[in-house]
Amino acid sequence: MIKLKTEASIESMGAAGQVVAQALTAVQEAAGVGVSLLELDEIAHDVLRTAGASSPFLGYRPSFAPTPFPAVICASVNDVIVHGIPDGYRLRDGDLLSVDFGARLGGWVGDSAISLTVGTARPSDVRLVETAERALAAGIGAALVGNRVGDISHAVGTVCRAAGYGIPEGLTGHGVGRQMHEEPSVPNEGRPGRGPRLREGMVIAIEPMLIAGGTDGYRDDPDGWTLRTNDGSRAAHVEHTVAITKAGPRILTARREHTPAGHGKGQADLL
Ligand code: MG
Ligand code: MG
Repeated sequence: MIKLKTEASIESMGAAGQVVAQALTAVQEAAGVGVSLLELDEIAHDVLRTAGASSPFLGYRPSFAPTPFPAVICASVNDVIVHGIPDGYRLRDGDLLSVDFGARLGGWVGDSAISLTVGTARPSDVRLVETAERALAAGIGAALVGNRVGDISHAVGTVCRAAGYGIPEGLTGHGVGRQMHEEPSVPNEGRPGRGPRLREGMVIAIEPMLIAGGTDGYRDDPDGWTLRTNDGSRAAHVEHTVAITKAGPRILTARREHTPAGHGKGQADLL
């Protein structure tokens, strides 16, 4: 059953979403050469503590998982698509990192992911991440009252396929609310005009996952969590939690543009 949210609930979800945005911004700023994935997890954990929020990831154990998830972020490096477990690995120049993060505040969940390059970026990674972000934007653009879930899926999938990338089969976005994963599922590829009708008050996570090599296959590591591309090519993953409102899609996990100190002629003060 799809649970519709009131305007007041969407406001509360926006507060949870802003904790997610803050944490991902902090992780992005810290993610440099030599920094370990566990250090990034600790940075995100600090943001949760400061906000009085908790982690929907920590201790999460869906049916496929042999063990509860042991961290507050998923840190997925290079050929890992999603669900990488943060460990002592230190980021290297040229790595591609995807970070997935959730927060629960006041009983509501926010869920978002970013992909970023570390140090000297490979042009192929820049293109992959940019395409993932364009696919996400296209999906959000289709998240309109009266459309169907398939319209979002079609928008996302069209951008990914046009660029020649693979889409891991069976990994989807989802409804978000008091639970991290609610109905409906939001596939990254699909037919327009199909699937559940989008209604005012639905809140969904749209999360394109792209495989650079163009194949759709993946496999899990012995840890039962980490999902890697079959062809060894790199992957990107980006995600926002989006409310469907009369006024259009509202991105609850939107991050403010980061303006480095000394740039933007004072605009940084406003951001
Ligand atoms: Mg997520
Ligand atoms: Mg999600």
